[in-house]
Amino acid sequence: MSGLEDLYREIILDHYRSPRNRGELESPPAVRVEGFNPLCGDEIVVYIDVDDSASGDAAVVTDIRIGGQGCSISQSSASMMSAAVKGRSIGEIRDLTKSFKSMMSIHEEGLDAETEPQEDSAGAELKLGDLEALRGVVKFPVRIKCATLGWNTLQQGIDEALSS
Ligand code: ZN
Repeated sequence: MSGLEDLYREIILDHYRSPRNRGELESPPAVRVEGFNPLCGDEIVVYIDVDDSASGDAAVVTDIRIGGQGCSISQSSASMMSAAVKGRSIGEIRDLTKSFKSMMSIHEEGLDAETEPQEDSAGAELKLGDLEALRGVVKFPVRIKCATLGWNTLQQGIDEALSS
């Protein structure tokens, strides 16, 4: 087990030291949203370009950039998130978010009702890729907010993009 934990730690540190999609997008046209986790002092800025935003779940996040600062969990999670969602449709991102949050033991009311029981965990793990490395965070409840900050901020950005 410790071999796997070492690998996970390595993946987290790699994303922390070399964050993917770091930077800014011109806003507008990009949507810019900020998220803050006061428990830890983490800050995430998400920029997204959404193509064809009128088509709802079929709309595609064509580009994403991440800014902000904070602990290694918050920053590496946002980096992994950016790599996982870039080029994906809003519908796919919703599924991915649900898989990630369920790994973090967050079961949202309403969302769960339609997908219970979750026997698709193998598929979810495939899709999560590097994000699997954050699995250990669930053992430290106070860090879960660090790991989900980027995702919640992304959700905010998607809501904004679709409503504009
Ligand atoms: Zn944090």
